[in-house]
Amino acid sequence: MSMHIKKSGLLDESESVAETERGNTRSIKDDSSFGLPKFEVALDSLPSKGVLYPEGTKIHYLPYTFGELLRHSASDVDTKDDIHIVAKGIQPTGIEVKDLTYWDFVFIGILRNMTRGDVEWVGLSYNCPRCEQRVNTSVLFTDIEFTDLDIPKFPVVVNLKDVNWEFYPLTMDKYVKLIEGEHNTDSRYVFAAQVTNRPLDNTLALFDSAIDEDAEVLEYIDGLLFHGPNPVTVTCNHCTKQVPIDITDKEVFIRPFRRSEFSPRDRITFGQE
Ligand SMILES: [Zn+2]
Repeated sequence: MSMHIKKSGLLDESESVAETERGNTRSIKDDSSFGLPKFEVALDSLPSKGVLYPEGTKIHYLPYTFGELLRHSASDVDTKDDIHIVAKGIQPTGIEVKDLTYWDFVFIGILRNMTRGDVEWVGLSYNCPRCEQRVNTSVLFTDIEFTDLDIPKFPVVVNLKDVNWEFYPLTMDKYVKLIEGEHNTDSRYVFAAQVTNRPLDNTLALFDSAIDEDAEVLEYIDGLLFHGPNPVTVTCNHCTKQVPIDITDKEVFIRPFRRSEFSPRDRITFGQE
């Protein structure tokens, strides 16, 4: 099972305004945002299917603003700042942004990008696995597929070395802690952070001593918890071969990509009549 990102999954502005009038959500007029449209993402359309969030949880998000885009592109912005900017436009009810799974957060980040009418593509830069050349290309957001989380009940429990190890998918607060410890690009740490009932050092020690069947079980659980984007197939413009590209790199999704087709010049006038 996997899911495509679809624009049709979004609620439009009129629906979210109606909800606001029923008093279910924070009023959009109170936040000095000049009445930004607010969108709702249905929980079961998330890669996690929302199974980890309490019943009644609602998740709304705002489109990217000009100011946010400028902040994303500032030279001194690091990954944590980028996450903060994405997070500011996500307004959950019933949970906090930090409780979102990492992959749900990435998914909503993409939806935020897609609220901009002029943004349909994401730029990708990669080393071709065939010819090893550096390639720049772009992929339609709507061609990106996420793997569904398909776990009936949490935690995932496994007994290894006579100890029960409990796993939950990586959440945003854990991910931010990994960034703070500069371990967010280390897959050993990222996986270890998903064990919730043992200290991190313990889990790392387990990983470093796991062989044979134990190693296979751990690899299987790592795969089970994954609910990020599948590789996309692109055509290398050096060797012209079709190659699958891993697009799980966060940078690709967190940073919005500008590609405008309308003419801003039509919207402005020069001088005063
Ligand atoms: Zn190539």
